[in-house]
Amino acid sequence: MPAGKLHIRKGDQVLILSGKNKGKKGKVLKAFPAKNKMLVEGINIIKKHARPTPKIPQSSIREMEAPIHASKAMLICPSCQQPTRVSYRFLSDGKKIRGCKKCGENIEK
Ligand SMILES: [Zn+2]
Repeated sequence: MPAGKLHIRKGDQVLILSGKNKGKKGKVLKAFPAKNKMLVEGINIIKKHARPTPKIPQSSIREMEAPIHASKAMLICPSCQQPTRVSYRFLSDGKKIRGCKKCGENIEK
């Protein structure tokens, strides 16, 4: 897949295909199309040492998501709830939308 053409977008539900979170589902919090990466809620949690800030004067360990590669996740279709590949189609106004290859429904609302 060429960089910058991420088939997954913010707000999508995805299924994790590999790594320690394999089989888990999560919501995409942020997509990084240029890097083919994305941040998925609850997936690939890393512990990060946070420096003291005026708000939190003690240093602490924060848990946060680290980006995963897009190839490690598959989009879950909001219509059929199945992990699916994406097909692209064009609306009459020229807008490009994503469709589910399993049930044929449009993924974009
Ligand atoms: Zn579907």
